[in-house]
Amino acid sequence: MHKAALLQQKSRIVRYSKRFRVKPGHKVKLADIDPDFHSTHEDEAAAKGEIVTNQEKLRALQYRMYAENKRSLLVCLQAMDAGGKDGTVQHVMAGMNPQGCRVQAFKTPSAEEAAHDFLWRVHKAVGPKGTVTVFNRSHYEDVLVVRVHKLVPKKVWSRRYDYINDFEKELTDSGTHILKFFLHISKEEQLIRFKERLNDPTKQWKISESDYLEREFWDDYMKAYEDALRECSTDAAPWFIIPSNHKWFRNLAVSQILVEHLEALKMEFPKPTVDLKRIRREYHRAEKEEHKRR
Ligand code: AMP
Ligand code: MG
Repeated sequence: MHKAALLQQKSRIVRYSKRFRVKPGHKVKLADIDPDFHSTHEDEAAAKGEIVTNQEKLRALQYRMYAENKRSLLVCLQAMDAGGKDGTVQHVMAGMNPQGCRVQAFKTPSAEEAAHDFLWRVHKAVGPKGTVTVFNRSHYEDVLVVRVHKLVPKKVWSRRYDYINDFEKELTDSGTHILKFFLHISKEEQLIRFKERLNDPTKQWKISESDYLEREFWDDYMKAYEDALRECSTDAAPWFIIPSNHKWFRNLAVSQILVEHLEALKMEFPKPTVDLKRIRREYHRAEKEEHKRR
């Protein structure tokens, strides 16, 4: 291959898992991260092939996880309103077998939920071994919206980073793989998406009174996100900041990171529990009888 072509190909194999991962304890400055970033891909058409391949791989990997029944995957999605959480859920799960995956959305806590500790509703939403769970919002709301709107005093929410890290450690120690994605959009892009929602009758149902109210707290949210990402990105349960102004790039990056993580697990199909030789003989006998019957 021509040297320039080789170089170009090499630059395309960007490992987003490394590039977008928040290093534990490292300061995060969201204003310095370009939400428009789309790597070497010109546009959606150029990335399409890779996106489809990732989706196919995800399908096969989820099947293996289900068959293996040894561990589980938990994907946490956080973003500002219109940040693309729903779209990412749809994309990530598109090829998966519904038997073995679930989505859990976290809304304002119900009276019963609010009467418990903040992790109560979260812990029971984590799927069992063999399954993939996607959180659309998560326990991180308890250090984001709760902090921004002063729903509890600082001394309460500031302790939650440690509680979250302990909780996630306990999960990962028990075989749950946790990958957390912050879908990073710009304030301008949010307004563009709000406009789309307003003008598209199939999207109007998504509009919420709180959309514009929360937008006014944008800077406070960015600060709360920066702290949460720094405090709670661990080796066991990393945070990734995904540039998400381009929906297709977001899908590409998230799916690539998931594929890479799941492939590294080297999941195996369980060995058959039956004697295959004997079952094969049974099959041939049944086949013969079927021929006779016809
Ligand atoms: P959406 O995901 O757009 O349907 O909205 C769900 C709403 O629930 C958002 O405004 C969240 O901020 C809010 N929410 C989720 N979890 C919590 C929580 N723990 N405390 C307060 N509000 C929450
Ligand atoms: Mg909303």
